Amino acid sequence: MYAPPGVKTSPDMPVPDTMRAWVLGDPGELKLTDKPVPVPKRAEVLVRIDAVAICATDLEVIAHGPPAMIQGGLPFNKNWTPGHEYMGTVAALGPGVDEYTIGQRVTVEIHAGCGQCKRCRAGMYTSCHNYGLNYGDVDKGHRANGFTTDGGFCEYQVNNINTLVAIPDAMSDEEATLVVTAGTAMYGLTELGGLVAGESVVVTGPGPIGLLGVAVAKALGAQPVILTGTRDNRLKIGLELGADYVVNARQENAVEAVRKLNGGKGVDYVVECSGAPNAVNEAIRMVNRGGKVCLAAFPHEEVPVDVAHIVRNNIYLYGIRGEGKSATHRAEAFMSQKRFDATKVHTHTFPLEDLPTAIKYARERIDDAIKVVVKTRGSAAQRVAAE
Ligand SMILES: [Zn+2]
Ligand SMILES: [Zn+2]
Repeated sequence: MYAPPGVKTSPDMPVPDTMRAWVLGDPGELKLTDKPVPVPKRAEVLVRIDAVAICATDLEVIAHGPPAMIQGGLPFNKNWTPGHEYMGTVAALGPGVDEYTIGQRVTVEIHAGCGQCKRCRAGMYTSCHNYGLNYGDVDKGHRANGFTTDGGFCEYQVNNINTLVAIPDAMSDEEATLVVTAGTAMYGLTELGGLVAGESVVVTGPGPIGLLGVAVAKALGAQPVILTGTRDNRLKIGLELGADYVVNARQENAVEAVRKLNGGKGVDYVVECSGAPNAVNEAIRMVNRGGKVCLAAFPHEEVPVDVAHIVRNNIYLYGIRGEGKSATHRAEAFMSQKRFDATKVHTHTFPLEDLPTAIKYARERIDDAIKVVVKTRGSAAQRVAAE
């Protein structure tokens, strides 16, 4: 039975020595295998994974590799487990951990910075200067589970306590997997200045981050909140999550529509979540002079950008990676207070064994899939379509 030295376990929650885990082989190839249950070190806990959501970045990593970086290189054929948007139950405590208790439900954020570089010291741990330096003889303490260290498509994982967010019993497993998504949107708005009450916000791209970006902006008091996209079913969910207006870019010119909705001047902030090739040029024409644009998505290819328009109009551009500055805690606070219903973006659940099917649903958007969740335990034995 699992009892590593220095690690606290409980007879109420016995931990096996081995677990089921998906690993990445060649590009696009996932294999279900057995792995030893990992051991938490100082300031880490062992989390029993109860549910994990599939993110567009997982699809990217599984097919192409980056932004995952394992042992300094591509993640293929390294017995590495992807998956990063998970939640679960604390199952064992590393040496000295008294911040959490065994049996406590938690969700996770992805990045545990090294804690010693200048970015980590400023709360920007998703931009840690020791990113990925945690293998072999190098141990800088950095972890980004599912990107630089083993992730969540398995039954147990170790997490630094800084990456844990306690959740209430009333929050379902599926909803808890969405905290980090809402946290990413929250981080974007934090980087734009955070004080968005009464300010006008456009969100471009109604994927999970965009939809929850609408919800977070509205919860922060933004007015109006405008969502642009090309799929009416997703724009409708945006309205349910708090958008004051939606614009279908297939039916009208999105820039003109946004400017018209704001007296011709444009909005104060744009949160760009579409990654469309012309998204930056459209976003800088949606904001007013001195406005701010946050880029939370990107196209594959390099794209030309109208720099003159940015300079002449004093427009600020921000790129964000992940969910820094404890944004997940602020997102969770909104969710546990039911300020918005994140479960509207959850559409499908599959058991862990069916991960390849779940990925197919997410990639091909089968049955209008938005957020697809994989569960390791409980009632997820068969596929259930969430309402
Ligand atoms: Zn993600
Ligand atoms: Zn760091």
